[in-house]
Amino acid sequence: MEPHGAANAAQPLGTGRSPELRVADVKQYLYCPRVIYYHYVLPVERKVTYKMQVGREEHVEIDRLEKRRKLGRYRLAEGERRFHVALASPQLGLSGVLDLLIVSPAGYFPVEYKVTTGGPALNHKYQLVAYALLVEEAFGAVVRSGFLYLAPRRELVEVPVTDNARLHTRRILGAIRRIIAEGRLPAVRHRFGRCRDCEFLNYCGDVERRGGARFLQGGMAPRHEAQAVTQVEEGDGDVLPE
Ligand code: SF4
Repeated sequence: MEPHGAANAAQPLGTGRSPELRVADVKQYLYCPRVIYYHYVLPVERKVTYKMQVGREEHVEIDRLEKRRKLGRYRLAEGERRFHVALASPQLGLSGVLDLLIVSPAGYFPVEYKVTTGGPALNHKYQLVAYALLVEEAFGAVVRSGFLYLAPRRELVEVPVTDNARLHTRRILGAIRRIIAEGRLPAVRHRFGRCRDCEFLNYCGDVERRGGARFLQGGMAPRHEAQAVTQVEEGDGDVLPE
């Protein structure tokens, strides 16, 4: 079985399957597949963390500043900005609210704001591609690229929306649905640093709390999940895998 499952573009993963997924699930799955488990399979209490609160406040401020800026920084001469666009795809069984959609004669460009001090992360990029899929279905258009706005760095990063990126995103949706359907705690393989600030840390009793140590637990989980996470880590750079 190939990483992220056997889904393919000719066989839409969302068709006839439940539950409805959120675009945020794509981001969270790539951060850690157990977040999906704790949301859909064994829902646990979630608190609004300080980080989440700061993120919400920052989004309001970014909206305010964005309205005053020119589209030249997107290399566009003209266009219309649409903020907080609700999008849904019956075909993919996926929905979400996009921070910003630029509609211009040059095409449709989804934009996501990120309040992160690091560079563009792989999970942010695939979240953006998932939005691109929704825009394509909603407007009957082809999205060639989108943008991540990294607020603390005031940096705009263009993300190409390639066929491979579309296919990979569909595979991620398939992997998420398998976690939900199988109802088993997924195996994970990443550094403990990722767990340190995780709101679910108290529920992951098998995590090794040694800084920098790798861990691999959940032996009952299907092998493809461990492979999926490993593959994502290997490509965890600034470039979408082709
Ligand atoms: S604590 Fe670690 S293993 Fe558990 S959900 Fe968070 S990131 Fe995943």
